[in-house]
Amino acid sequence: MRILILGGIGEAVRLTQRLAPVHTVTYSVAGKGRALDLPCPTRMGGFGGAAGLAAFLSENGIELLIDATHPYAAQISRNAAQAAQATSIPLWACRRPAWRPQPGDDWRGVADWAGIVAALRDFRRPFFTMGLEPLRHAAEIPLEQHWLVRCLAAEPLATPRLTLLCAAGPFALEQELVLLRESRVDVLVAKNSGGDAVAAKLAAARQLHVPVVMLERPTLPKAEREFAEIERLAVAITNYQSF
Ligand code: NAP
Repeated sequence: MRILILGGIGEAVRLTQRLAPVHTVTYSVAGKGRALDLPCPTRMGGFGGAAGLAAFLSENGIELLIDATHPYAAQISRNAAQAAQATSIPLWACRRPAWRPQPGDDWRGVADWAGIVAALRDFRRPFFTMGLEPLRHAAEIPLEQHWLVRCLAAEPLATPRLTLLCAAGPFALEQELVLLRESRVDVLVAKNSGGDAVAAKLAAARQLHVPVVMLERPTLPKAEREFAEIERLAVAITNYQSF
């Protein structure tokens, strides 16, 4: 089967490694990132919206489109749904289940950046683990706050009230506890990404009674079939009757 996998996260890479030996797979990422050792062609960069993706699907004879992107990558998921509809190519999705608060957690849900700013008003040392967005607001850091921002990679910033930490997960609980304590973090800001790789920060926050400002997930379009785990998706492809 000719499959296009929209990726950009670890599960998508693992799914590709699993499917590529058996199917004709193309793995697609938004831009240049870490070099990937994949047994199939990798396509880098956008398609040019839903219409561009639809054209790619048709021109390359794709028979199954798999959305295995991050739960906050809403635009590409919308494009995938539109392109699948326009071309009548089936769309399957891997949707990571969201984390749920556990006893002892103090989570405060917010919808957007303005909600984050409002929720942080009473705190002094927020720890942001939500990608690059805080860096775009570095000039707006309130005088009484110091920000710790952890992201995959970023240009260094000459802002004395911001500490930038470029690091890729997974992160161990002990590591997160040390970071929160040594940086005197009084609130954690996170996306509800789900999965295990970066979940230890939540356990650390619980243990240290640090509240969590949680950016709510965007609403994603429905796919024809949705799977919480790549293993189930891979098995379903094997059992796919039409092929
Ligand atoms: P987004 O806002 O949903 O997408 C923006 C644009 O980037 C899309 O319209 C598309 O461009 C292009 N794009 C995104 N994913 C692509 C893919 N897999 N293959 C080809 N083009 C893609 O996405 P985002 O939030 O910026 O995330 C970008 C990528 O990083 C995603 O692949 C996602 O899986 C990964 N990622 C995102 C997060 C996050 O928190 N958002 C975290 C970890 C990893 P065109 O319209 O030109 O096709």
